[in-house]
Amino acid sequence: MKSKRIVITGGAGFLGSHLCDRFINDGMGVVCVDNLLTGNLENISHLFGNDKFHFIKHDVTNYVFVPGKVDYILHFASPASPIDYLKLPIQTLKVGSLGTHKALGLAKEKNATFLLASTSEVYGDPDVHPQSEEYWGNVNPIGPRGVYDEAKRFAEALTMAYHRYHNVDTRIVRIFNTYGPRMRLDDGRALPTFISQALNNEDLTVFGDGSQTRSFTYVSDQIEGIYRLLMSNIVEPVNIGNPSEITIKDFAEEVIRLTGSNSKIIYKELPVDDPKVRQPDVSRAKELLGWESKISLEEGLNMAIYYFRKSLQELTL
Ligand code: NAD
Ligand code: UDP
Repeated sequence: MKSKRIVITGGAGFLGSHLCDRFINDGMGVVCVDNLLTGNLENISHLFGNDKFHFIKHDVTNYVFVPGKVDYILHFASPASPIDYLKLPIQTLKVGSLGTHKALGLAKEKNATFLLASTSEVYGDPDVHPQSEEYWGNVNPIGPRGVYDEAKRFAEALTMAYHRYHNVDTRIVRIFNTYGPRMRLDDGRALPTFISQALNNEDLTVFGDGSQTRSFTYVSDQIEGIYRLLMSNIVEPVNIGNPSEITIKDFAEEVIRLTGSNSKIIYKELPVDDPKVRQPDVSRAKELLGWESKISLEEGLNMAIYYFRKSLQELTL
């Protein structure tokens, strides 16, 4: 049988590059399309020279041309860290809307299965806890985070429209905070920020009083969930995330403990519309995909700390 071919938009980013690895290891042909807005060629440099891997530098808000057959499209292009999308509000809205439109158009043209990288942010600052896929969310459309949340909500709506009206075979994964190797140390998200602060013996900057919660998922668990969803026939959105929930203050303390750092915690202003709680209800993923996270927070944090320690050492060489 001829091997399958997959297009991954945003493939030079954190999650996208792990997906490139996963599908290359599976023997598929991988076409990575990325304009390097927040991604980095270093994330995929080990794949150059592999004749099953192709990189196209392209902004997916413009017409996407990929010659040859395509079996799957994973649409991961989008700034993802709050400081990135607050700095790049128009690009974020454009890639969620125009970029999703182009990626869906490619799926329709190629008769390919399409998977959208959506997010727990579609639930906004939730008044239902934990969040199941049935919950419609509580998003401020005109707040600073609205550029990301609403772009993803629009992307979900467009994906369902292409499914219903053009019969495109679609999937929607709602990704909860995911971490691991290849995150940028300076991307502003809590995990790389706290780890780099702790490793440099600097104060850890907790926003607000630190009582807001998040549920952190290790990257290998996330990639496995996405893979299983793609290979399933489930059109409804599926939450993929580790349900173990922690306050940001406790999380900062855990980072200090595991790094053995002398850092202290300092408190800074809470960003506007920062969600107060976030925890996935993963019953659907468990039941329909047989998926649940395997890596505990302590185990995952130790692997991430090892990776960031090495990255910092390389930076100072
Ligand atoms: P990332 O910033 O590392 O990767 C995003 C990639 O998309 C980058 O390589 C960037 O250059 C590329 N990109 C952005 N705009 C583009 C455009 N117009 N054309 C082509 N490429 C473009 O972020 P990530 O954490 O890997 O997130 C990847 C996807 O997963 C995003 O869609 C994000 O919304 C979603 N997601 C991630 C998380 C998480 O915790 N990491 C949580 C929820 C959802
Ligand atoms: N946060 C923090 N200090 C930082 C960065 C983030 O206290 O230096 C908080 C942020 O306000 C949020 C949580 O940590 O409540 C998770 O933030 P992150 O940017 O990782 O992702 P989010 O879940 O908000 O998209």
